[in-house]
Amino acid sequence: MALNPTDLARAALLKLTEQGLPPTPENYTRFYHEIAGDTAITPLDQPCGALLNIIRDMLGEVSERTGGLASDIQNQNKTIKSSIDDLSRAQEKTRILQLLGTILTTTSSIHSTVEDAHLDLAATKMALEHIKAELQENRHMMLEDWLTGAQNRRAMDALLTKEVARAQRSSSRLCVAMLDIDHFKRVNDEFGHDAGDKLLQHLTLVTKSVLRESDSLVRYGGEEFLIVLPETDIQGGEFVVNRLQQAFQKYPLLYEGKPIQITFSAGLALLKPDENGHTLVMRADTALYEAKNAGRNCVKIAAE
Ligand code: GH3
Ligand code: MG
Ligand code: MG
Repeated sequence: MALNPTDLARAALLKLTEQGLPPTPENYTRFYHEIAGDTAITPLDQPCGALLNIIRDMLGEVSERTGGLASDIQNQNKTIKSSIDDLSRAQEKTRILQLLGTILTTTSSIHSTVEDAHLDLAATKMALEHIKAELQENRHMMLEDWLTGAQNRRAMDALLTKEVARAQRSSSRLCVAMLDIDHFKRVNDEFGHDAGDKLLQHLTLVTKSVLRESDSLVRYGGEEFLIVLPETDIQGGEFVVNRLQQAFQKYPLLYEGKPIQITFSAGLALLKPDENGHTLVMRADTALYEAKNAGRNCVKIAAE
């Protein structure tokens, strides 16, 4: 028997959970189509569109069900009304009893029709709430770097667009710092890749503890991070970077009981009027390059 869209979505969710897979739109779509036995799979670059189709199907089914419910109740209402009309004219006791019997049976049938529909709608509501919760979680995951939990490049684009527009609208300062760990390759070579990974996670934790709520941390590349500092001028940016350098000296990563001391180089840039996020980041990157050339473990400020 073919499953309806609600059951398909539920089965797809269940299969995802069983296999311990993240509830990405791609995974939903794959299982949904697998269970439905479809061969024409929606292209993976349109996973949200496919998911929207699932939700649209579910809502279509709800609408069909409520439409059916309304017409069932209308028919049953007609039966009751005509029995009541007959009742007002009936004289014989047996006829009166017969009509009362019809009214009672129809009333209880309306009751069970409504109850069934209520259960079906509650199940659909639960399935939709489940999808909503998982999508919210998934949206979060799509904007995060999986290793460190810092924001990723996808999130950075939206973040910069928003912050640049805000700074320009309110004529406030916006400073960014591009950070790159010095001689990170040596950490991997000396302590292993796992230590390198843990160091990136450690850097994220320490940096987040130094930043304000309104600041953001993006993993820009392998061991390169971008810090976005709204309402901050160059002096403020330098202050944050210096505090970070001190924090890493004070709290090195302890790996297998041994501290791994690291330093980083940084490039700072302040948003110019009419500049966009991309050129701002490029200027910070050029300043970072100068810091590397100047011997590392230092900060350089981008030329305007
Ligand atoms: P520099 O001071 O010039 O920046 O030197 P560096 O060694 O930090 O830079 P380089 O670009 O030579 O090497 C970067 C290293 O970062 C090489 C790469 O294997 C490592 N790396 C990038 N991403 C990851 C990651 O996710 N985990 C680990 N463990 N290492 C990574
Ligand atoms: Mg490096
Ligand atoms: Mg690098």
